[in-house]
Amino acid sequence: MIKEQFVDLHIHTNRSDGIFTPKEVVDRAWEEGFAAIGIADHDTIKGVKEVLDYAVGVGMELVPAVELSCEYSGFDLHILGYYIKLDDPGLSSFLERAQRARLIRAQKMVERLTRQGVKLDFSKVKELAQSGALGRPHIAQALLEEGYVANYDEAFVRFIGYHSPAYVAKFRILPAEAIELIHQASGLAVLAHPSSYNSEELINEVIRSGLDGIEVWHPNHSPQEVEMYLELARSKNLLVTGGSDCHGGRKGRVLLGRVKVPYEVLIQLKARLKR
Ligand code: AMP
Ligand code: FE
Ligand code: FE
Ligand code: ZN
Repeated sequence: MIKEQFVDLHIHTNRSDGIFTPKEVVDRAWEEGFAAIGIADHDTIKGVKEVLDYAVGVGMELVPAVELSCEYSGFDLHILGYYIKLDDPGLSSFLERAQRARLIRAQKMVERLTRQGVKLDFSKVKELAQSGALGRPHIAQALLEEGYVANYDEAFVRFIGYHSPAYVAKFRILPAEAIELIHQASGLAVLAHPSSYNSEELINEVIRSGLDGIEVWHPNHSPQEVEMYLELARSKNLLVTGGSDCHGGRKGRVLLGRVKVPYEVLIQLKARLKR
């Protein structure tokens, strides 16, 4: 009998808001026994590029991916791009723009914190982001390290959560624009963790915008939700994907290894690419 192979198509590195370096992600996934992984950092493909050769050496199949930040009627929403061409000029220039915008936004949040008597050194925050995609998790980390909060969650509740005083919205695009960018770069567009949006209307709107697939397996999805999204995918002829959305231990436990998606899913993705 052939041993079943598994994949995890949604992992973050420290090039965005994960903790592990891209190499550590490859090594840990290898130790967990995965046959393939997707490194899907927020608004950056630096991590993927860094370990293209390394993964080959290890014997790990690496799926190039990215997680784009979108907005639809005031809500944050994430769209994953799989098998995007890493040298696509349109996508590259968009990602550069998104990085610059993240820097300015983080600066604004640090300024707002200063006005509230919370003094963070911006260069320290930048250092925490390791020249990757700077975000609220890095500000939360700085708040924690400077002793302004007792834990990561408190940073969001008191300072940088959606309805907290130092929050500044991110530079985001419409789902349709993200899908277009991904398609232009020859990739497949997949709606990330649909249960977090809790809106059928929103999901249907994104599907109408030309979505290729939905993320079915995710640590936040209940067994009932997994069934529901599998059924939705069947009825709309969408691909299905899944992953741990591991950020290292930043949000608590290390999730790598928690979600094991059958390799068959990847075969379906590749088949859709060929068409
Ligand atoms: P950003 O992309 O900079 O807006 O940061 C979003 C990141 O912060 C995501 O990875 C979220 O998981 C994390 N995050 C957002 N809200 C909270 C919260 N209330 N508690 C913990 N983490 C959060
Ligand atoms: Fe994240
Ligand atoms: Fe996400
Ligand atoms: Zn993610």
